[in-house]
Amino acid sequence: MASMSYPYTAPVSQTLFDRASVVTPGGVNSPVRAFRAVGGTPRFMVSGTGPYLTDADGREYVDLVCSWGPMILGHSHPEVIAKVQEAVARGTSFGTPGEGEVALAEEIVARIAPVEQVRLVSSGTEATMSAIRLARGFTGRAKVVKFAGCYHGHVDALLAAAGSGVATFGLPDTPGVTGAQASETIVLPYNDLEAVREAFRAHPGEIACVITEASPGNMGVVPPLPGFNAGLKALCAENGALYISDEVMTGFRTSRAGWFGVDGVEPDLMTFGKVMGGGFPAAAFGGRADVMAYLAPAGPVYQAGTLSGNPVATAAGLAQLRLLDDAAYERVDAVAAEIGSLVTESLTKAGVAHRLQTASNMFSVFFTEDAVTNYAEAKTQEAFRFNAFFHSMLSQGVYLPPSAFESWFVSTAHDAAAIERVAAALPAAARAAAEATEEGK
Ligand code: PLP
Repeated sequence: MASMSYPYTAPVSQTLFDRASVVTPGGVNSPVRAFRAVGGTPRFMVSGTGPYLTDADGREYVDLVCSWGPMILGHSHPEVIAKVQEAVARGTSFGTPGEGEVALAEEIVARIAPVEQVRLVSSGTEATMSAIRLARGFTGRAKVVKFAGCYHGHVDALLAAAGSGVATFGLPDTPGVTGAQASETIVLPYNDLEAVREAFRAHPGEIACVITEASPGNMGVVPPLPGFNAGLKALCAENGALYISDEVMTGFRTSRAGWFGVDGVEPDLMTFGKVMGGGFPAAAFGGRADVMAYLAPAGPVYQAGTLSGNPVATAAGLAQLRLLDDAAYERVDAVAAEIGSLVTESLTKAGVAHRLQTASNMFSVFFTEDAVTNYAEAKTQEAFRFNAFFHSMLSQGVYLPPSAFESWFVSTAHDAAAIERVAAALPAAARAAAEATEEGK
């Protein structure tokens, strides 16, 4: 498809993007929004209702990104909006403790057994950064093990994803992260317990923690193999390191209790974000009380935030969590299963080699026949097919994540009408994927 021309234009979005590009690097405030992987004009959205987004050109889309996870009840849920409006009417920030923070912390502690205490922050990045500092402070050790393809936010020490093989020291992925920061990070292949065992052997008494996405969604959906998380937990316990489960993406999404609710492996520390903020900047880290006791002002490890526990954000998060009962999760799971099987059906019909991978209601499509268990395998897919697929869906009013290496997200608001729109768009998108060539990407 060397001549692939996007079948429609988005003039108002283009004008906004041109304006944005003058005053903001790359025209966006978070890189993946810029459509660099798939090409074309990023859509500037002006409103969202239920399963739909409307862009600045007045086009409506079925949203299969859900703000990268948070909008699990769909957009503008009336009860969440009402709670937010009530909170805003009382004032937007006090810089003091407030009851909303206590209630949100209680809700988190009540849902997730390994979390005895929790500290609220404003982004998933802050949560993982703080959890790692705490793990280092608690253990008195410096090194951190992470897995290639797992994203934990743009924390300096965690932007070292390069390198593979046993105990390979991370090289910074980006200028601005020093070799010293990255050198404390050991990057290992995902789903490889032997590599973790070897890292502990090679660095006795030096590893503060192992951090992993509870079930990765940032290289596409690549769930842990049976026993992997339990194996990490056991190796950490044997070696005096903390096991940190990053549930920023899976938390309160893959079940009431996130991925912990699926596999039951008890981490020492956990991180949360996305769903718990109800579309506002709220995130958290928490876990064992004896570890959390090391945090200031109770303990010596410093951590703070002017807007941490913001009353509007906590009201939104609490409203959303309280609406997420068993029926809500059943609904999201059913929507995900239905859309997943429609995708598979259409790609199969068009003769496109692909693999749908799922982790409860998170799912993504790899354009390869083989099972994907780590980042190296994820990268072997024919991502150019995804780009053709993506633009065909976009042109038909379905908004997918603009990258082949991201999870798709659905909500309780995706009703039969929204699913029907997705179903109607899929055959042409599957044909576009079948016809795509590498040069046309
Ligand atoms: N951890 C995981 C697993 C994530 O998916 C993300 C964001 O996508 C983060 C951490 C960082 O969160 P935030 O973008 O809120 O800083």
